[in-house]
Amino acid sequence: MSQFNRPPLIQAELAREIAPGVMVIPDQHSDLVPNIGIISGTDAVLVVDSGLGIANGQRVLHKAREIAGAKSLLLTSTHFHPEHAFGTQVFKGLAIIISNAAQADELQEKGALFLHIFRDLGPEVREALEGVEMVMPDETYQGEKVIDLGGKQVVLRELAGHTRGDQIVFLPHEGILFTGDLVENRLFPILFDQDASSRRWIEALTHMLRLAPTTVVPGHGDLGTTALLQEVQDFFTFVREDINLRIKEGQALELIDKEAARVIKERYQEWGNDLWIPFVIRSVYAELTGTPLKSPELSVGSAR
Ligand SMILES: [Zn+2]
Repeated sequence: MSQFNRPPLIQAELAREIAPGVMVIPDQHSDLVPNIGIISGTDAVLVVDSGLGIANGQRVLHKAREIAGAKSLLLTSTHFHPEHAFGTQVFKGLAIIISNAAQADELQEKGALFLHIFRDLGPEVREALEGVEMVMPDETYQGEKVIDLGGKQVVLRELAGHTRGDQIVFLPHEGILFTGDLVENRLFPILFDQDASSRRWIEALTHMLRLAPTTVVPGHGDLGTTALLQEVQDFFTFVREDINLRIKEGQALELIDKEAARVIKERYQEWGNDLWIPFVIRSVYAELTGTPLKSPELSVGSAR
């Protein structure tokens, strides 16, 4: 198993059209590259996530401008985490940057901390983050915002779970849903952020399931269908039930760490990024017991 194993390089030339006017730059299964969306209407083009750092942001911007031509450009982020939103500064002044208010607050509160954490993930990541500055959105909203790009309706919806200010991007007519890291295809969910919550995450998935999308573009991993949403929801339901039972049986946290990890790994053998399993367990434990979160160490030393 290896994490952060490949250069965090967005390959914009690999962009492909998944529906008329809807492009995805695939993540190429690189941990610090998200699936990026470029959605075009007759009047405007919306970019979903800017990537990690200035050079990646420029690659996305270049591709978006190539597609947009004279149309106006908009940018939004599925959440504030560095590989999704820390290329935003290159869009400043060239695109209208839109985010939900909770996400903007999080960027202000936690942006510098995440920059610091990510710089320690290895020399390539540190290099990619060189010169990164936090850029606040031009426009914020609360709850939901509907954008008409010209014959192309897009719904931005504030949810929470992976962070406090997650955002999904939904195209109701095409049935396409961009989930950010609320869904990762066969990768263990990341409950690293202090605001991560399995309870809110399950609620977010219920909301997404109700939208009944035909195509789900996860934050990381291959595109899928509603089955992806269901899988992640089932995962959280399973983990919460398992840990709840152990708490009722009076198992100590250290034993729960070990035993819950064993059953999770057994049940989800095909899922990747095992390093996040201990974080799932500690986060769910803290939620269920109402005790302060005791995060495990993020040991990237062995992962590199
Ligand atoms: Zn994330």
